[in-house]
Amino acid sequence: HAKETGGGRAEYYRLEMDAEREGRNLLEIDLRAAIEQSELHVVYQPVVDAKTWRLVGVEALARWNRKGHGPVSPDIFIPIAESTGLIDQLGIYVLHRACETIAGWPELRLSVNISPGQFRDPAFVAHVGAVFRDTRTDPARITLEMTEGYFIQNPERARAALAKLKRLGVRIALDDFGVGFSSVGYLRQFGFDRMKIDKSMVHAMDDGGRAVDMLQATVALARSLEIPVTAEGVETKSQALALKRSGCDELQGYLFGKPMSAEEINTIYRNDSFPGVTVAYG
Ligand code: C2E
Ligand code: MG
Ligand code: MG
Ligand code: MG
Repeated sequence: HAKETGGGRAEYYRLEMDAEREGRNLLEIDLRAAIEQSELHVVYQPVVDAKTWRLVGVEALARWNRKGHGPVSPDIFIPIAESTGLIDQLGIYVLHRACETIAGWPELRLSVNISPGQFRDPAFVAHVGAVFRDTRTDPARITLEMTEGYFIQNPERARAALAKLKRLGVRIALDDFGVGFSSVGYLRQFGFDRMKIDKSMVHAMDDGGRAVDMLQATVALARSLEIPVTAEGVETKSQALALKRSGCDELQGYLFGKPMSAEEINTIYRNDSFPGVTVAYG
């Protein structure tokens, strides 16, 4: 009897794994087609000055509306793109679209996420440079955001790759600080120009106590290295004020706007104000 149940369970798992693999394969096939047919699009999330709450930049984020299925989260399709090599094309596509778009907003800076896997392509830095030339973008306006994974695994190669990128004139930011194993030491070690505090650290502040101390200490360390700090995932005014007091110079989050179309950013840019948001000085 026990044997039967065990066998049944094994069979069940096997089927489930098959289904999962099958689903992933189908996703990959569709993603490949979507990239080739330019069906991905780019949305832009406002980044504001922590003191004035004025728009100073945008972060470009990839979106995929899968035909016949609806939107797929980047948390699903970016890892697939990374594990299949599609990230090279996807990443350059997003950068290219975003650079074209910001030509209409000369005062704003642009952040674009880069996956470590993109460095595997020896021509990556050249491709980035070509995008700036094609779109006549001043690289000084661009920040490339990266998470720490690559730096831990491959510190020597990472340092060399970043140095090469920086020679183009872009800035680089350490993204998602506070998850994983990022340490303030990396900021200096790899020449990061900015730190982005992950939303999990920001949201933890609401519970008060240790989380607030930790955030303040982290920001203070970054600032002691003269590295500016953006906080991500800012959803409430009280978070925004606490983050400003803690020394963050820029804020990003649903309080100011979700990732949105270029047209919507354009409205904010022209009116120089966020609908429904007034600065709370404190
Ligand atoms: P990320 O780089 O940390 O981007 C910020 C994420 O936080 C975005 O999720 C954004 O929608 C979300 N977010 C912003 N403000 C708030 C807030 O107030 N509350 C909450 N709950 N969330 C907020 P999204 O767009 O789903 O992207 C997820 C991740 O996928 C990104 O995290 C980024 O690592 C990756 N990603 C997106 N587009 C690209 C891309 O073009 N290339 C690469 N390599 N990665 C990308
Ligand atoms: Mg980012
Ligand atoms: Mg990121
Ligand atoms: Mg992040």
